Amino acid sequence: MPLSADQLSEIEAQRAQSAPTRRATAEGMEAHLYTAYPVLDHGFVRVIDYMGDDLAITQAARVSYGKGTKSVTNDAGLIRYLMRHWHSTPFEMCEIKLHVKLPVFVARQWIRHRTANVNEYSARYSILDREFYIPAEDHLNAQSVVNNQGRGALLEGEEAARVLEILKADSNRCYDNYESMISDEGQSGLARELARMNLPANIYTQWYWKVDLHNLFHFLRLRADPHAQYEIRVYAEEICKIVADWVPHAYSAFEDYRMGGAQLSAKALDCVKRMIKGEIVTQESSGMSKGEWREFEGIIGLMST
Ligand SMILES: Cc1cc2nc3c(=O)[nH]c(=O)nc-3n(C[C@H](O)[C@H](O)[C@H](O)COP(=O)(O)OP(=O)(O)OC[C@H]3O[C@@H](n4cnc5c(N)ncnc54)[C@H](O)[C@@H]3O)c2cc1C
Repeated sequence: MPLSADQLSEIEAQRAQSAPTRRATAEGMEAHLYTAYPVLDHGFVRVIDYMGDDLAITQAARVSYGKGTKSVTNDAGLIRYLMRHWHSTPFEMCEIKLHVKLPVFVARQWIRHRTANVNEYSARYSILDREFYIPAEDHLNAQSVVNNQGRGALLEGEEAARVLEILKADSNRCYDNYESMISDEGQSGLARELARMNLPANIYTQWYWKVDLHNLFHFLRLRADPHAQYEIRVYAEEICKIVADWVPHAYSAFEDYRMGGAQLSAKALDCVKRMIKGEIVTQESSGMSKGEWREFEGIIGLMST
């Protein structure tokens, strides 16, 4: 259960209020505001605030006085043009502020995205909750044998049970010791800022994270990608659903050019041209390394037999 009854009623009270505004609002995003969408076993993502919509992007691109609208088709076309040509600043006119609850080891990956504003729950000031990420059985994998940075087959039976038991027991033992160290009953009680050092990286933290749409797309491209670790990918996928409702034209261009599209090097492009002309190009005659060639084959759907 990621939220307590009190927290849920605070959110409901906030959702019950509305205020008239002259600012641009996005109907799809209004529907999401404040709602906490569960992620992993105790985490969530919720939108706290946002600025702009699809029109804010075209308005800035045209530097117009009004809404900047020519027509819906024109706006969608302009957004696709901007995305296609890496014209990023119009997308920076939209912003989103999220409240995210996530395990510390996921936060360490997330915080590498420096082009955002962050304020994290203070474990110097407050006591952390006894909440740890314990993977579900269908996400408890062995080390991959082909990719040093990935997972292989699922652990099964006794081995899965043994690993889960270790994860749970260590989490609880560390938390018991954390509580006993900060307790001031009959002792001075260790400072919270010191006691937390013994907690495992699967404990949950929370933060407010504000980012503009251009840098959010960069984050989503890397973290909603199948190569990203599952535990951060599920957050990125949840955010993708929200963004698709907030700025549908921009999201659709992002899906097309960034998520679904691919970049080709000059050598790869040359190979495509030679193939179209009927030449049989191999890795040896491509000028590409084995790794590059493998990725190229994957992109153009030409896996070697
Ligand atoms: C699958 C995957 C595996 C990874 N593995 C590792 C790993 O093994 N080890 C590791 O340390 N990291 C790893 N990372 C993190 C990765 O290297 C980046 O730090 C992270 O993805 C953030 O990307 P970014 O710097 O482009 O994003 P942001 O920090 O949001 O920056 C966005 C862009 O702004 C510009 N920028 C921002 N700050 C600066 C600056 N100070 N100077 C110059 N330009 C700047 C850059 O153009 C940058 O691309 C991994 C990431 C992924 C997705």
